Amino acid sequence: MVNIRLVASLAAALALILMPFFAGTFTVTLMNYIGVYAVAVLGLVILTGIGGVTSFGQASFVGISAYASAWLTATQGFSPWLGLLVACVITGGSAFVIGGVTLRLKGHFLPLSTIAWGIAIFYLFGNLEALGRFGGLSGVPPIALGPVSFASNGAMYYLIWITLGLCMLLCSNLLRAREGRAIRSLRGGKQMSESLGINTFRIRLVTFVVAALLAAISGWLYAHMSRFVSPAPFDVRASIEYLFMAIAGGQGYIVGAVVGAAAITLAKNYLQDILPAFTQHSEQMEVVVFSVLFIVLLHHARGGIVSLVRRWLPRRKPAPPAAASDMERREMPKAGTPLLEVEGLTKRFGGLVAVNKMGFSIRAGEILALIGPNGAGKSTMFNLIAGALHADEGKITLFGEDISKAPSRRIAALGLARTFQHVKLRPNMSLIDNVVLGTYQRTKAGFVSGALALDRNEERIAYHEAYRQLKRVGLGDNPHELAGNLSLGAQRILEVARALAADPALLILDEPAAGLRRMEKQALAELLRALRAEGVTILLVEHDMEFVMNLVDRIVVMVFGSKLTEGAPAAVRADSQVQEAYLGGVA
Ligand code: ADP
Ligand code: MG
Repeated sequence: MVNIRLVASLAAALALILMPFFAGTFTVTLMNYIGVYAVAVLGLVILTGIGGVTSFGQASFVGISAYASAWLTATQGFSPWLGLLVACVITGGSAFVIGGVTLRLKGHFLPLSTIAWGIAIFYLFGNLEALGRFGGLSGVPPIALGPVSFASNGAMYYLIWITLGLCMLLCSNLLRAREGRAIRSLRGGKQMSESLGINTFRIRLVTFVVAALLAAISGWLYAHMSRFVSPAPFDVRASIEYLFMAIAGGQGYIVGAVVGAAAITLAKNYLQDILPAFTQHSEQMEVVVFSVLFIVLLHHARGGIVSLVRRWLPRRKPAPPAAASDMERREMPKAGTPLLEVEGLTKRFGGLVAVNKMGFSIRAGEILALIGPNGAGKSTMFNLIAGALHADEGKITLFGEDISKAPSRRIAALGLARTFQHVKLRPNMSLIDNVVLGTYQRTKAGFVSGALALDRNEERIAYHEAYRQLKRVGLGDNPHELAGNLSLGAQRILEVARALAADPALLILDEPAAGLRRMEKQALAELLRALRAEGVTILLVEHDMEFVMNLVDRIVVMVFGSKLTEGAPAAVRADSQVQEAYLGGVA
């Protein structure tokens, strides 16, 4: 079969290369603007579309860079290349500082704060004498590379589109790599990412800086293309337009940046042509028409143009992961050594004491079940152990380290992996991409090596490991299916595979068998036994007594936040107190 994607890409590349020879000056200029905008929008595709951080400040980063390079070259006489370097340093540095202050803000406060400093920077440009106030800076020199000058529209066209192509390549490499997956995981909620050892604040901050650097490149190209800078193109309205481009193109897609930049720029251009025929207030009408378009888009085509087109393209069928060497495994603690110690643990939610002076311990190599009626505090107990919650009183020791106050990624680093009672997956990522997230702490590649594709060997090994775990839990048939398509029971099992990909010494599973059929439960019990034989220690919550009785070594019974009793399964089952608690009502 003819590969439609390949043919379309080749045709597009050829058209782009030949364009200046056939098109008029106006079209080339328009293409230049589209390319320059697309570089800045690319930053938003990653930051907002993929990372879920909405920023109304992208245009101010473009502005900081444009002004930095314009000032250095037009008033100080330096080369535009030094301008680029300084622009990137200043823009990236500003993003680092601004991001460091604002990225910890929750919910709507973050977008609101980006609006605030977007406005502040606009007025700063407009009021600084050295930057020409609202009149701006003119006389910005063209870029030159040795004997080649990029003064003409046509030469600038090639510089812009080659730069855009390179930026897209680096970004698409990055998104496929380890840190790119961490960016994609951000939307699954902080709790999930942190439990996998991902420092979500750091990832958000670096992503913010990456987006700002793309804005910096865009601003530099802009300044030396239009040879003049003024505050107007960098105000909050421009930032909103960049966001609009990212959403119109297709938030989650790299090519969406180009498609969106092109669609909005062309639409604006078209409106400027036709609106004057209908109204004298065409500039205001333009804003109104765009607002209406924006709302229609958000309601009917959230995925943007790219996802609409993708529906018509044949689905790509990726091959199963290639064979690679096995990943190195951690040394398991010797069977019988104390592994987890919980003492006098109390957690209150307002007036409710969810966990009340709990105490128990686990030795390496055993399977311990925590049982009790609904609302007994079992999931809260798990969240305390995994560091998703912190206790009000008491102490938890894991591998001899006091983890009562530790963040969950520290606990993950010690060798604890978990699943959640309410499944936390990325439904729009494939099964294998979800599982490979589990290998995050066993791999090293950073942002730069990911973007430069220097991580390919490590990636092969990580995917090989993820595939192995998928097959192990019985989900290896269709590794590229989307996780959201699985039944809820299978999604729980997928979480188990993700936890196993972290090579845990202690595995804690919150109701792993809920929603499974009888045969599937047996397979899960087999898997857990095999893991125990490998030296993995397991703590689980489960309501199915038959499942628990035949599998676990010891049971701790919890009622109203406190420990009722603990012991071997048979003894616990015979306990009259336990029978009473359970007759009181349990699922
Ligand atoms: P279990 O997992 O044993 O069913 P949980 O640990 O989920 O029980 O809940 C124990 C108690 O704590 C319940 O009464 C629940 O309503 C309450 N609870 C759990 N999480 C929270 C929270 N984040 N805020 C307030 N109350 C909570
Ligand atoms: Mg629970």
